[in-house]
Amino acid sequence: MPEQSNDYRVVVFGAGGVGKSSLVLRFVKGTFRETYVPTVEDTYRQVISCDNSVCTLQITDTTGSHQFPAMQQLSITKGHAFILVYSVTSSQSLEELKPIYQQVASMKGGVENIPIMLVGNKSDESPHRQVSLKQGETQASVWRCPFMETSAKNNVNVKEVFQELLALDKRRHMSLNVSDAMKRSAKQKRTDKLKGKCTVM
Ligand code: GDP
Ligand code: MG
Repeated sequence: MPEQSNDYRVVVFGAGGVGKSSLVLRFVKGTFRETYVPTVEDTYRQVISCDNSVCTLQITDTTGSHQFPAMQQLSITKGHAFILVYSVTSSQSLEELKPIYQQVASMKGGVENIPIMLVGNKSDESPHRQVSLKQGETQASVWRCPFMETSAKNNVNVKEVFQELLALDKRRHMSLNVSDAMKRSAKQKRTDKLKGKCTVM
């Protein structure tokens, strides 16, 4: 699929109820809700820095069930990077990630250049834990991807997941901090000027 825009598209996958929407809303809006509102599919946009400029981070929060395979396939086709979320309170939710991972790998022709993060959410729910930290780490090492446990509820590791995901893409230099990009770009222009290069404004 041709690159039509300056967007960097991240897709969040995982079983229903693991906290995909909560993670995205915590990251994008800084909020959390206790009630469960099933999602069809929502996309959120945020400005980030990308290669000395700005671009749009587009985060697609998917439905989670396998009700809409066509939507899932389209999300994979369009996605540049993927966050695979399970809940530490449900072994089943980790199992449900396996076919999703396989589908990403097969549709992308391998995962070597595809940024993927495995995330175990609800780390605050220790009395109801079914998946240990070690089990999450083991799955991540099988998939050769980074892993983090998060709590959307207590705002633990949420921003870090997105930061790490962006850092995984070596083809572009991305950061959540837009002012960094502006500073680098201004510095580059000054250097170019000193070297006698002409900058087209
Ligand atoms: P989704 O179906 O994966 O989008 O899941 P939601 O984000 O809608 O969350 C499902 C339920 O889990 C909601 O009742 C949330 O309040 C709750 N939840 C989400 N994240 C956390 C978390 O980090 N800790 C706890 N304890 N509950 C969470
Ligand atoms: Mg949801």
